[in-house]
Parts: sequence; structure tokens; C-alpha cells
Amino acid sequence: APVNIIMIGMAGSGKTTLMQRINAYLHERKTPPYVLNLDPAVTKLPFQANIDIRDTVDYKQVMKEYGLGPNGGILTSLNLFTTKLDQVMQIVDKRAGENKYFLYDTPGQIEIFTWSASGAIITNTLASTYPTVVVYVVDTPRTASPATFMSNMMYACSILYKTQLPFLVAFNKTDVVSHDFAVSWMTDFEAFQQALRGQEDEGFMNSLMNSMSLVLDEFYNHLRVVGVSAMTGQGLDEFFVKIDEAVKEYYEEYKPAMQRQM
Ligand code: GDP
Ligand code: MG
Repeated sequence: APVNIIMIGMAGSGKTTLMQRINAYLHERKTPPYVLNLDPAVTKLPFQANIDIRDTVDYKQVMKEYGLGPNGGILTSLNLFTTKLDQVMQIVDKRAGENKYFLYDTPGQIEIFTWSASGAIITNTLASTYPTVVVYVVDTPRTASPATFMSNMMYACSILYKTQLPFLVAFNKTDVVSHDFAVSWMTDFEAFQQALRGQEDEGFMNSLMNSMSLVLDEFYNHLRVVGVSAMTGQGLDEFFVKIDEAVKEYYEEYKPAMQRQM
């Protein structure tokens, strides 16, 4: 069966660039993916999308027509696209024999996809038919301070609990900064507390951290993590090893839970 890979992450984390790199990587290995762009506001796409939301909706026109700002325009475009999701699913079904991986790029602004009804409908629809993995892309150089790291991980945590899907955190831009510090903070609470010392908001962070530590510890324990560079392609072999593990989790945990609910 094919595997759906949904790219989620803060604006600028490198979702689109990573899509391009993975696309090239899979082409080289003679297993071209099927690529879908769900960001209506992207101006320049560095890869050739098989399905592009921009072919269905003109986000600038949507803004004008409904008197909306940029975020409202993107959200409404996504809603309009979602009304045609059954057609997309038919195409996916048709291509399922030919393509192993289906890659989905999502809007730059993370909350538009993660906290909207459309985002949930798209995610659940995909996951109800095929193994689906959420890849949470992190801008590693930008999370090198303990405070941003923790808020980014809390955001990841909330998305994991919301979707319940197999999850992979991809620490991107490792060509700039290695993700070793992140792994160390996630596996060693002492190391994280050490990093907090001397920070501007040390007092606040320490008390927040103490109350959050159990939650985050539990979260980190179940987390799959990989360091990648969308720029150089480093880490992609390991990325696909982790995707395979996540697919296994889909069959062992997500699917049985879904069937119990039906
Ligand atoms: P998106 O908003 O998550 O889709 O982010 P983009 O893919 O548009 O990337 C945002 C910026 O980060 C761009 O300037 C990219 O060139 C840059 N970028 C993305 N991935 C990498 C990477 O692995 N290394 C470096 N150095 N820059 C990257
Ligand atoms: Mg993008």
C-alpha cells in the first residue's frame, strides 16, 4: 500500500524545500512519489506538483471575493479544496499501484492546517484509507534556545495528540546546526535544565518546565526523531527508515484503534 506523508511545520521551517529534496531523492531511486501541494499562497514551487491546490482555487481572488485577509483567504481556499477531496482520493486510489509515497505540502502558516476543520478532514480522510505519517519539520537553528525549543516541542506535542497519527519530528537545516543538542535535551532532563540556567527567563522557564516535565518526558519517550538537511539531502536514508517504523505503528496502533471506533 502507498504511504501518505504530510509535511507540517512553522512557516520557514523548510517544508517545501524538504518536499523538493525528498522528491529528488525518490526520483533518483526510481520510486517517484506523487506530490500534492496544499498551500494556496505559495508563489514559487520548487517541484512539479501532480495535484496543486492553486489549480482549483485562486487565493487572491478568494480574498477579494469574500473580503478576507491573507489567513482567511488561505483557510477559505483550503475549505473550497476540501469540498473536492473525494475527487483527490479517487486519483490517489488510481495511482496507488504506481506510486509508493504520496507527499503533501501544507500552508506555510502551521495553524491554518493543524487547527482547521479542513485540515482535520484531509488528515482523517487520508489516514482512513492508507498508512499516513505526520512529519513535523523543525527549523533547527531557530530552536537552539531552550525557550523556543520547548514551545516548539509543546506545539508538536499538541499536534500529535490531536491527530493521533504516527509522528516523525524532522530537525531540518542540519547543514547549519546539528540537531545533537535537541536529542540531548529530549533524552536528558538534566541537560535541558543546565541549558536553561543563565537564560533571561530562567525563573519562569524552570517552574514551567517542572510542571511540564512529566508530559514532555512521556512525549519524548514515544517520539521518533531524525536530523535532515533539505539543502544537502543529508539524513534522508534515516528519514525513510523512520517512516517505515511509523508505517508499522500505523498498522499496529492507529488502524486497530480506528476500527474499534467504527
Ligand atoms: P516552508 O515555509 O516551511 O515551506 O519553508 P521553505 O521550504 O520555503 O524554506 C524556508 C527557507 O529556509 C528558505 O529560504 C529555504 O531555502 C531555507 N531552507 C529550507 N531547508 C533548508 C536547509 O535544510 N538548510 C538551509 N540552510 N536552509 C534551508
Ligand atoms: Mg512552504
